[in-house]
Amino acid sequence: MTIGVLGLQGSVAEHIKLIKSVNKKIDAIVVRTIDELATVDGLIIPGGESTTLRILLDEFKLYTPIKARVEAGMPVWGTCAGMILLANRIEGERPYFGLLDIDVKRNAYGRQIDSFVAEGDFAGMYVGMVFIRAPIVTRVGADVEVLAEHEGKAVAVRQGNVLATAFHPELIAKDNRIHKYFCGMVENCK
Ligand code: GLN
Repeated sequence: MTIGVLGLQGSVAEHIKLIKSVNKKIDAIVVRTIDELATVDGLIIPGGESTTLRILLDEFKLYTPIKARVEAGMPVWGTCAGMILLANRIEGERPYFGLLDIDVKRNAYGRQIDSFVAEGDFAGMYVGMVFIRAPIVTRVGADVEVLAEHEGKAVAVRQGNVLATAFHPELIAKDNRIHKYFCGMVENCK
């Protein structure tokens, strides 16, 4: 099984390392081309800057193939900027992929200096949550499961094969449990 990490911008290496640590049989590769995308069973869209990622995804002609793969059932996990790109609605902007029935508000926790670390429950596991200029989820659709909350707001959600976290699990270096959860999603749909 191979998991791809979209490698245009953002925290790519950290995701690769944690996926590789889950299980020797699971490989992780950087995805920058349509051909690389075709070889993976699941895709992580990392955090970074969603405005930059939009431009690069268009430039690398990855919008249509990613959208088609996810619609055909490939598991995808967006962290932070990745969550923004997957959302059906982004306050004040046009949506990008529109593959996840949530509304988000960008940078809603404040400026860079307002980035913070919290702890909480993610699908029954107690985990650390690193928020870096994270989006706030302002609406969760009826078919969307909330996996984690922070101060009463959803910060991890799942709709079938689409997983999104407002925080950055890849920045908690020794904890691969959420990566393991995503690997389970990919394994189950193979
Ligand atoms: N603030 C960024 C955005 O709006 C997201 C930040 C992140 O991915 N850590 O795209």
